[in-house]
Amino acid sequence: MHNMSCKIYMDHAATTEMLPQVRTAMEPYLMEEYGNASTAYEMGRKNHQVIEQAREKIARLVGAQPEEIFFTSGGSEADNWVIKNVAADRKTRGKHIITSKIEHHAVLRSCEYLEKLGYEVTYLEVDGYGLVSPEGIADAVREDTTLVSVMTGNNEIGTLEPISAIASVLRGKDVAFHTDAVQAVGQIPVNLQQLPVDYLSASAHKFHGPKGVGFLFERKNKELSSFIHGGSQERGKRAGTENVAGIVGMAAALEISVQEMQMVRQRLIRLRNYFTERVLREIPDSRLNGHPYKRLPGNVNFSFKGIDATSLLVLLEEDGICASAGSACNTGQTRISHVIEAIGVPDDYAPGSVRFTMGRDTDRGQVDAAIESLKRGISLLRQE
Ligand SMILES: *Cc1c(COP(=O)(O)O)cnc(C)c1O
Repeated sequence: MHNMSCKIYMDHAATTEMLPQVRTAMEPYLMEEYGNASTAYEMGRKNHQVIEQAREKIARLVGAQPEEIFFTSGGSEADNWVIKNVAADRKTRGKHIITSKIEHHAVLRSCEYLEKLGYEVTYLEVDGYGLVSPEGIADAVREDTTLVSVMTGNNEIGTLEPISAIASVLRGKDVAFHTDAVQAVGQIPVNLQQLPVDYLSASAHKFHGPKGVGFLFERKNKELSSFIHGGSQERGKRAGTENVAGIVGMAAALEISVQEMQMVRQRLIRLRNYFTERVLREIPDSRLNGHPYKRLPGNVNFSFKGIDATSLLVLLEEDGICASAGSACNTGQTRISHVIEAIGVPDDYAPGSVRFTMGRDTDRGQVDAAIESLKRGISLLRQE
């Protein structure tokens, strides 16, 4: 199961391993069940049914209706779809969008693209924990605001945003509300019957499903336009022959993740707290980034004074520990992540920011090993 170079894999926010049951569920659709779901004969019809069953299952697991789930190629596509198309669909009503400074690049870059097209975007500041303020949203909303996008859980520092409170301040306003829940779905309870958002993005490979598949939730009364024009797949809104195996795998992965969630989550919260307490106690000049408890179960993100995270990661890898600096998308760049910057990590700490994200198999022995490796690496680097 485990990759040789990552004896201890602590980068579950970047991606997770596919579960064996997910692979088993997918296998028929990679080989013998290859029919196109749009065809009239039995093999294709059957695949159409399989896709609709997966849609029903996913809908049930997140408290949605099947008609509200649209399959995509992943979280980035779902984010791009909502941001760009809500903006375009509603441009006669207004051209102002609100988001936060700590969103995933799939959201931020989409917003920057829209700015080039003449839209106006407000990137809200966050507090030192990375929290977006609902009052800040209320103050930023204008007559011409058409969309607010705030993530559920931050992929770098783990902070969980007050999505319900933000939805409350937007109630009664003609403003669409989107949340990138890619880090949340499958990790923490997400119930769209109770969570009053209009749009939500999710991605299978973040909850032990395959890569390259995700979904966008669109609440029933909304009418987002087509993202990929072509055939009538996904009710004409996202053309292209379906990724049947991926969709089936995503449904299987979400089912298992939701079934095991309560147990895994409690365990990860305990591990996370243990990890944090030991690091802050045993490693001088260290700090935790993100909120102490309003955070994703398996996420810790530390900054170490006077350390370069890239060098530290090399030393961690020598001990078989795979973690990440900033977000995975920034790897190879020494630039300080936009999230670390936005929460105001002091200059002498910011370059030494490392994220460990734990998963269903992570145990205390692995956390102990990571802490020992951190101590070794940091004292080595600080001697230089
Ligand atoms: C991983 C991630 C994405 C991108 O999802 P892909 O399926 O890899 O495109 C978007 N948003 C967040 C918060 C993520 O963690």
